[in-house]
Amino acid sequence: MELSPVCTEGISTDGCIIKSDRAPRKSKVPRDVEVDIEFLHKAVPQLAKVFRIVDKIGEGTFSSVYLGEAQMRDGSRERFALKHLIPTSHPTRIAAELQCLTVAGGRENVMGATYCFRKEDHVVIVMPYMEHQAIVDIISSLTFEEVRLYIYHLLKSLKHIHQFGIIHRDIKPNNFLYNRNSKMYALVDFGLAQGTADTQIELLKVVRQRPTQKGGGSTGKQDTTHRSKAQPRLLHPKTTASTTASTSLPVPSRQSTDLTRLSKVPRPVFGEKNLNSCLPASSTTKQAAIMTELVKPIKTEDPASRRYSSASRGPVAVRSQSQKPQRILQQGLTCNCYMTDRVCNVCLSRKQQVAPRAGTPGFRAPEVLTKCPNQGTAIDVWSAGVILLSLLSGRYPFFKASDDLIALTQIMTIRGSRETIQAAKSFGKALVCCRELPRQDLRTLCETLRGRRPSPDDEVTPLHGASKDSAQHPKIPDDTPTHRPTDGISKQHEGGVGQTLSNHPENSSSKDASTRLDKQTSEVESSERGWDRVPDEAYNLLDRLLDLNPATRITAAQALQHSLFKDL
Ligand code: ADP
Ligand code: MG
Ligand code: ZN
Repeated sequence: MELSPVCTEGISTDGCIIKSDRAPRKSKVPRDVEVDIEFLHKAVPQLAKVFRIVDKIGEGTFSSVYLGEAQMRDGSRERFALKHLIPTSHPTRIAAELQCLTVAGGRENVMGATYCFRKEDHVVIVMPYMEHQAIVDIISSLTFEEVRLYIYHLLKSLKHIHQFGIIHRDIKPNNFLYNRNSKMYALVDFGLAQGTADTQIELLKVVRQRPTQKGGGSTGKQDTTHRSKAQPRLLHPKTTASTTASTSLPVPSRQSTDLTRLSKVPRPVFGEKNLNSCLPASSTTKQAAIMTELVKPIKTEDPASRRYSSASRGPVAVRSQSQKPQRILQQGLTCNCYMTDRVCNVCLSRKQQVAPRAGTPGFRAPEVLTKCPNQGTAIDVWSAGVILLSLLSGRYPFFKASDDLIALTQIMTIRGSRETIQAAKSFGKALVCCRELPRQDLRTLCETLRGRRPSPDDEVTPLHGASKDSAQHPKIPDDTPTHRPTDGISKQHEGGVGQTLSNHPENSSSKDASTRLDKQTSEVESSERGWDRVPDEAYNLLDRLLDLNPATRITAAQALQHSLFKDL
């Protein structure tokens, strides 16, 4: 599809589309989708002159995406994706998204924009439609070669946008469309993009992330159920629903009744779940383990947050569960909500540290989770690493966290707490963790999760329990799903690393026999898919992508030169 000029009031005159196919639509879509399509037609009537809108293909918090068909001059029919942005989006933000698509898109696995329609505050971005499969649906059947190519093409798109000084900020499989049959790839969704200091995207120089704008909440734009901007939650790992409710982001105020439909809670591809809420009250080990705390280093510039420095907000000072928040007490501040399930006014009034945190928690880099103010293109590379980890281990999502501290703890579980603390130090954050979590060997971890190695769950491995043979057996959190790879993907995709899903060994011998059979079948299947000969290079690249320190993390351009891709 060739790029055509984008216009704001209607379709460009030199566009190749001549008319919509107004043939009566056979109603195959559900009633609520029909209603949404009607709504879109009313909001942007000129669409109907060009497109027959046939289905709704995506709905997020900040947009709905539709499939439209248009008849081209040569008589052929072409399909387009119509992204209807919620009317409360900031105009500059919309223009920046469009500029990313038009300036950097249309090549190198980056989606381009064809047209843009606007009526009043309704904007519809038109893109070539790319048929794709959701990773969650195919992850269990992917071959290693497919995974290798997928990551290669993702890195290619990242290299390209990073050359333009675009930081995507929301790299995850839902935003990297993949057509398995035609081997096509496309990076989409620049709704959260930011510019580097020398970005070539003019509008990214002016957009600044706003806390109440798209994705500004601590849990990312997809997570409306746990959206929370008040950081005190970091101090109070037990705090769940009540805090969330009292601190949820304001719903955009300009919504009319009709528009509420556009911003309704999306059906999540994978439900995020607050880990805290599934911890049994007695699970002190696990609670202790997540008592990681971020506190601002003493040196930092912000006097307000220094005063409340043991609050969640800053860089990290780690405190064990039993310790009193000494610094608060010393400062004479009366805060009595520590370790309770509520947030006091003192905590609610704490000044927020400002750093970009958009994105989806499970894909956020350590420097994002710790609110490091200097964030660069390396954050996208980290997210690509999380995707590779997911694909190599066959688990999606891999990290499932409803807030930043849980996400950070999950990272520590895989990459090691000492290493994480060390890296955080390098970018000016003090991070304290009350117990040491050893770094895992990535191959052992992935092979165990794939069921290619005896799973330590058979012996019941405590989450952060010390084990002598940690080099051999990864310590997988005891709330890690432990089902075999032959288990249905529906079960798999429910369980990221952070989900409770126990799979206790059954006792009956017939079950044992069928389990053995399952295992044999799955071994044959997985060797056919190349999972019995994953080269060391794959885990070496993974290690480089998941470098905790953004300064030494491999870049997308360097990663493309990695020996894993030498033949490409
Ligand atoms: P949001 O900002 O709401 O996440 P996206 O731009 O990510 O919006 O689009 C949401 C979903 O719509 C995508 O995950 C994808 O499934 C679908 N989609 C977006 N653009 C296209 C496209 N050009 N072709 C096909 N599907 C698309
Ligand atoms: Mg998206
Ligand atoms: Zn308090």
